[in-house]
Formats: sequence, structure tokens, C-alpha cells
Amino acid sequence: MATSRDYYDILGLDKNASEQDIQRAYRKLSKKYHPDINKAPDAEEKFKEVNEAYEVLHDKQKRAQYDQFGQAGVNGQAGFGGQGGYSSGGFNDFSGFGDIFSDLFNGGARQHVDPTAPVKGDDLDYTMTIDFMDAIKGKTTQVTYTRSETCPTCQGSGAEKGTHPITCDKCHGSGYMTVTQQSMLGVIQRQTLCDKCHGRGVVIEHPCKTCHGKGVEDKQQTLEVKVPAGIDNGQQIRLSGQGEAGKNGGPYGDLYIVFRIRPSKDFTRRGNTIYTKIPISFAQATLGDEIRINTVHGETSLKIPAGTQPGTKFTIRGEGVPYLRGDGKGDQISTVEVVIPKSINDKQKQALVDFVKAGGSSITPQEKNFFERLKDKLG
Ligand SMILES: [Zn+2]
Ligand SMILES: [Zn+2]
Repeated sequence: MATSRDYYDILGLDKNASEQDIQRAYRKLSKKYHPDINKAPDAEEKFKEVNEAYEVLHDKQKRAQYDQFGQAGVNGQAGFGGQGGYSSGGFNDFSGFGDIFSDLFNGGARQHVDPTAPVKGDDLDYTMTIDFMDAIKGKTTQVTYTRSETCPTCQGSGAEKGTHPITCDKCHGSGYMTVTQQSMLGVIQRQTLCDKCHGRGVVIEHPCKTCHGKGVEDKQQTLEVKVPAGIDNGQQIRLSGQGEAGKNGGPYGDLYIVFRIRPSKDFTRRGNTIYTKIPISFAQATLGDEIRINTVHGETSLKIPAGTQPGTKFTIRGEGVPYLRGDGKGDQISTVEVVIPKSINDKQKQALVDFVKAGGSSITPQEKNFFERLKDKLG
């Protein structure tokens, strides 16, 4: 909703305007175009423009960015005329804009809803930490948490058995009332929560003894949760209808279980791929071997070809993490690590010397030094 007009033009100012000029122009124009005062069809649009311009120009940093880069410099920061607080927001957020705005906006074009209409209950989040392997294999577990439930005695009405809530006579059931105020912008009408029913639209004369008129009670409940095989860190499942109780007969909210997964010592996971290291000896790498390696599903055999280099990656198809949707599993990628022994016995030493003598070393850069040193050693 960013306006394409120059912000200074909108406020009728030039680029050298002082902070006071901006303040003064804003007061004058926001009063002139306020939708509660000005009933012209384009008043609301102009009012938004004025606010947008003011939002940027009264903020030193944003103004400097605007002066230098124009609209692009402040995009996504002004936002006042757009999704801001103008016509959205429930009628509880009276605090919002603090200073001059609060008066304006409380009188603005708010859409009130019937406070006695059914409203779905709030959703709840529950964080569940599970072991690495449980995330791969899936498991069934339990979750215990507290949520509000519809009071069984009054079925959520809050009124004692045999009685009913009655429509509030002060607000006629709307839950809010209009008060007229004198402000620096003139007479302004603003809406506040009804002080008799506190916005509920109904008054309960004989509160239910179980829930003391609230209509809900906090209850602890335990649910069975099926952790799906393949779930990843940060993913969530939704348990429909297991959140907080609704209002006025509305449905329950949902429970979201967010998973945190403990890392494994042996495996690294990225998406559906499992990464491991395969430590092998110099001899195995040189001569080749058939070895057993661990996967998240057990063990499998892997052929190491003769002459395998450190860092070589082997992909073991279908030994990774199951896909949450659909069949099949990801892969395991295992990287060869050649383990150099820290100490060897005399027999091994002799075998290596013989190996070198037999022309086994072909590493060019150090060849000469290596042989020289070897000669020294052998005397
Ligand atoms: Zn009750
Ligand atoms: Zn009321």
C-alpha cells in the first residue's frame, strides 16, 4: 500500500522542513482527513498517505534513508498504511501506537465481531525431545499437558444450572461502547470495551459454581502420540481438537507437537540422508576389502576397491531416513577415513621398510628426503 507520491509533497513541505514543521503538518492533515471527521470518499486514502509520510519523515533514520534512496530506502519499514494496525487487530489492542495514534485509531474503521459468536479455541504448542533413532524408526509415546476444557457443569455458558447468561443492557450485546472525547484534534469518538460485561456481550447473574463463571476449566490430559518415522528436527504434527476450549460453543483449537531431536554419536543427518565415516587401514585402502558398516537400520556390507583414497564417498542406497510422505528411504553417504597407526611393532616396521624398498612409495615431492632419511636410519 506504499504510496507513489513524494512524502514531502504529501505533507506540503520541502526537503528542508524541520521536525516541528513535520509535526505541525501532520497534525493539521491527519485531522483534516481523519475518516471520522472527513466523509469525502478519498479521505481515508489521503489519511493513510499522510500517516505513511509521517511515519518515515518524523523518524530521523528513516528520513535520512528516504532522502538518499527514496521509497526503496524505507520499503518494508513504513508499512503504516498497509497491513499495519489500521483496520486489523482485535479490540483488545488499545495500546498499539502510543502517542497521537491511539486516539485516532480507536475511532477508526474497526470491524467489530459479535462477542457472543462461536470462536475456535487457541492452538497449543508442545515441544517434544526424542532420541535420534526414535525419529528415524518412529514410536508411540505419551504427552501430558494442561489445557482449558469446556466446563461440564454449565457446558461453557458460565451460568449456574437452570439459568442463562443475559444480554448486557449497557452495550446491547455488542461488547463495546462508544465514548465521546475532547482531544487536541477536536471531538473524537472512540470505542472501548463495555465496562459492565467486559466485552462479553452478556452478563452472568448466577455464575456456575464449578468454573466460577468462566465457562472453562484447566485440565491436565494425557494423549497417545504416534511419532512418524522420519520426522526431522523442527517439524511438527497437529493433533486436531486437542488445543484450548473454544468460546461460545466454538470448536477446540489444535495441539501442535514440535520435535527436537537429540544428535547421534555415530550418525549425522541432513534431511533424509545419513552421513557416516568409515575408518579403514592403509592396507585395506591399498589392497581393497569387503567390510561391514553400520547403518541406522543395522549393518550392511561394503566393498572397498583396491586403491581407495581417503575422503572417497560411498553411497549406500536406501539405508537413510524413511520419507514422511510416500514410500522409500533416503541414502547413506559414508566417507573413507584412512587411519594411520600411532605406533607399530618391529615386525610391522620391517614390513613397511620392505614395502618402501620394493618401490611402494610413489609420492613424488618428498621422495628424495624420505629415502635419504630411510638410508640414515638403516645405517
Ligand atoms: Zn461452569
Ligand atoms: Zn456490555
